[in-house]
Amino acid sequence: MQTQLAEFIRNTSDGREAEEILRACVHCGFCTATCPTYQLLGDELDGPRGRIYLIKQVLEGQQPTAKTRLHLDRCLTCRACESTCPSGVRYGRLVDIGRHVVEAKVPRRGADRAVRWALRTFVPRAGLFGAAMKAGRAVRGVLPQVLKDKVPLARAAGPWPGVRHSRRMLTLAGCVQPSMAPSINAAAARVLDALGISLLEAPGAGCCGAVRHHLNDHDGGKADMKRNIDAWWPMIEAGEIEAIVMTASGCGAQVKDYAYLLREDPAYAERAQRVSAMTQDIGETIVAEAQALERLLASRKLKSEPLAWHAPCSLQHGLKLRGGVERILTAAGFELTPVRDSHLCCGSAGTYSLLQPELSHTLRDNKLAALGEGGAGMIASANIGCITHLQAGTRTPVRHWIEWLDMRLSDTSAIADIEAAGK
Ligand code: SF4
Ligand code: SF4
Repeated sequence: MQTQLAEFIRNTSDGREAEEILRACVHCGFCTATCPTYQLLGDELDGPRGRIYLIKQVLEGQQPTAKTRLHLDRCLTCRACESTCPSGVRYGRLVDIGRHVVEAKVPRRGADRAVRWALRTFVPRAGLFGAAMKAGRAVRGVLPQVLKDKVPLARAAGPWPGVRHSRRMLTLAGCVQPSMAPSINAAAARVLDALGISLLEAPGAGCCGAVRHHLNDHDGGKADMKRNIDAWWPMIEAGEIEAIVMTASGCGAQVKDYAYLLREDPAYAERAQRVSAMTQDIGETIVAEAQALERLLASRKLKSEPLAWHAPCSLQHGLKLRGGVERILTAAGFELTPVRDSHLCCGSAGTYSLLQPELSHTLRDNKLAALGEGGAGMIASANIGCITHLQAGTRTPVRHWIEWLDMRLSDTSAIADIEAAGK
């Protein structure tokens, strides 16, 4: 696509990158068919091709309006369009740049501004978020539904094995996961321990940076990224850990991007590159240990249980990881039921479910209907946002797949475990 960027952005790093992305788009529209917001709203400007046009116009100097901003706000950044695009258009990066520019040119006011400030301020701070979650649970019964959906009932994490193996890996506690579902990292630690790997969390690490980055606070997002690198670096430098394992695919996609996002920071570029190279989704970690897992499973009587798998967008479109988790779950005796439109977002998308509740809930209802069609009594996913969002709309238990695998390795029927615990 021919572009003539305006003076204000032409000779900047973002400008050069946006120009390269815009030039790659041949305007074919293939991406539109797989865009969840286009499917719901039927407006070209709520699909990737239309949004690319809007961003192009703004970067070429046209003044954006609140309507321009709304079309960009409605995008889930699910990146299904990237998976469909035959020309390799990096839409996710372009929309990041476009939103940043539009935000500066069309400032937000009133409640919209206040809500985004609150999200940027409270969500990435695990301590503050944990206190808010505790308070939310105390008054959960009287909360409006949109907030109640974000306050899951407390669940015990279970034991975290001591550090007893020479093979060690780091994991990220993150911002919301420790208070919403501490059981996920604990389950990962138990499974890896059984495979001969000790899993550690580094004190001082926190939010991966995605929350602030996707709320257009790019500097705040980078501060979170640098803090994590600082927290991890002593163990990396000392050669104490062999990988950084992510149990939330959204955080994994972000940490894999540290190398790119900090590439122009002279103090952090090199370390960010090393961190991104060492980062892997927990699915990649377990796939690499497939033989050890098979030996563990061979000694167990596996009961076949139907399970519906929802691959988060950050896993399938962001990290481009497909098939690995499915193979692990199948090897562990789960019978994966067919799920229609598995490429589509569940509507969680970070803070999207709070900022665009109507679209988000429609996508969730559609996703839950698709997940339920195979008659499975349990649902698995790989990202805390998707898990919480889906669970708020169904009585079928929704867990991270590593939790289902952990239950399977503990020699019990996974669903019986959940039923015994009262869900
Ligand atoms: S982003 Fe890709 S699929 Fe979409 S219009 Fe451009 S070239 Fe076509
Ligand atoms: S990221 Fe998702 S919602 Fe946004 S334009 Fe692409 S497919 Fe549509």
